[in-house]
Amino acid sequence: MAIGNLTGRHWIAGKAVPALEPFFRATCAPTGAALEPDYGDATHAQIKLACELAERAFAEYRRTSPNVRALLLEALADEIMAAGDPLLDRCHLETALPRERLLFERKRTVNQARLFAQVVRDGSWAEPRLDHANLELNSPDCRSLWLPVGPVAVFGASNFPLAISVVGNDTIAALAAGCSVVVKAHPGHPGTCEILAGCVDRAIAKCDLPPGLFSLLHGRGHDVGQTLVQDPRIQAVGFTGSLAGGRALFDAVCRRPQLIPVYAEMGSVNPIFFLPQTLRDGRWRQWIEPLVGSITAGCGQMCTQPGLILGANNQEWQELRHAVDERIHAHPYTLLHPGIADGFRRMVSQRATQRGVAEVVSAQVSKENCSNCQVTGMVFDSSVDELLRNSELEEEIFGPTTIFVDYESTEQMFEYARSMKGSLTASVFATPDELESARLLIELLQTKVGRIIFNGFPTGVQVNHAMMHGGPYPAAIGQFTSIGTGSIKRFARPVCFQNFPENLLPEPLHDQLRNATLRLIDGKFVSNTAQS
Ligand code: NAP
Repeated sequence: MAIGNLTGRHWIAGKAVPALEPFFRATCAPTGAALEPDYGDATHAQIKLACELAERAFAEYRRTSPNVRALLLEALADEIMAAGDPLLDRCHLETALPRERLLFERKRTVNQARLFAQVVRDGSWAEPRLDHANLELNSPDCRSLWLPVGPVAVFGASNFPLAISVVGNDTIAALAAGCSVVVKAHPGHPGTCEILAGCVDRAIAKCDLPPGLFSLLHGRGHDVGQTLVQDPRIQAVGFTGSLAGGRALFDAVCRRPQLIPVYAEMGSVNPIFFLPQTLRDGRWRQWIEPLVGSITAGCGQMCTQPGLILGANNQEWQELRHAVDERIHAHPYTLLHPGIADGFRRMVSQRATQRGVAEVVSAQVSKENCSNCQVTGMVFDSSVDELLRNSELEEEIFGPTTIFVDYESTEQMFEYARSMKGSLTASVFATPDELESARLLIELLQTKVGRIIFNGFPTGVQVNHAMMHGGPYPAAIGQFTSIGTGSIKRFARPVCFQNFPENLLPEPLHDQLRNATLRLIDGKFVSNTAQS
């Protein structure tokens, strides 16, 4: 497949497979026009074929060395860079995300692939554990290692068309772990998905690996995804998107005779807690710009967008609220696709009519620009009393909006923290004099979120080793992060080998190792360099 020369076809094991009617097209987000070519839903036979080939390819790929997998990830990074402007141009048309943001996202995607290559070569991620036989205790030799689960189904989100899509976190983590991948393309950016599928296919060919290692299936409507996760060959699901979508796929998996893990990152309100002193004596002014930046990053279409902001009800709080509202209203926002823009308009209209909720300044929710995905930002205010009464205020609205919620006492703020739903993040702002209150709040939040930010804002998720991008339901399903190197565990599981002769064991469990993998040997962490 030539870059930029889109076919509208599915890509199954490196081959173009024609799409059948009914066709759909991507929408040009900035103008509302339909974009060529036609795409269609993958048929059940095509889904089955992709899964069969993924299973066959897995049988071969699982035996490859860490270095081969690392070379594949590095080749993938090179191919993404080589896709150049046609990838960025198509992606801009399909999502309205500006070029600067796409350049940043591409860099993040490529760096992610290279970081996982390092992790795979190092090998410590698989936690080799060796317990030698102990005759005194009559205990046998036991050795364990995390091993790849099998073919994985991946669903990317609309808001990160490069970093959380066809070659996003889940695909990279699955290939790093040693799994094959079948991706359900996001219908909001099918052309971007097709170009990225070409990058994966070329990287696989370059490394002389089986083409069935990767397939891309298009679809708009839920049948393709539901059928894919029910295919008996699929052994894990990685999903990023809406709560409704993640939950529906989890429920579909529960209908399988064999249950498999579903890892879903879904919507979240990411509350910010301002302790009272943090806004006093004019300090509120320093938070205006970064707060607005966090609420409107990516036009508010970030999974870590702060959709709920709590502060003590006083003059400074009101000043902050108005200053934020003023800036959010300053210009229109072009959202990713018409479905998201319609959803945004519907949800802010509903919120505006709820008891105990007011718009900070009344804004017109314009319907005039429906076709080009434009919306007006909206800022609401309410109180913790209302929030405790009405859990709908904790629902994520995907787009440029937030709700300021005031509390009368810190005890009331704690009451909300005790009852809040699971969220990806929470931010705590406190002065040095408020650290005891902050400590109590942070203790409560540890059972509610995946990441707690101190005196900072939640957007800007880092791809590193310590990142936890997840949280209790409904923020996520499954305990492993979706972003950062810890996500490799999503697509592996530990297996214990008891009383094995060394030549039947996976290499990381041999007594002598060539590389510097960290291992737990008879209860002590040992790095190979220290051992030799
Ligand atoms: P989405 O509508 O849930 O779609 C994601 C993918 O899942 C698409 O391929 C979609 O394709 C499929 N899907 C959706 N519902 C399905 C169902 N019932 N059965 C089978 N497949 C289904 O997500 P989105 O378009 O990205 O919408 C934005 C939402 O994602 C926001 O709520 C946002 O917060 C959330 N999000 C979360 C994160 C995070 O890390 N937590 C990151 C980005 C976005 P079909 O529609 O063709 O079935």
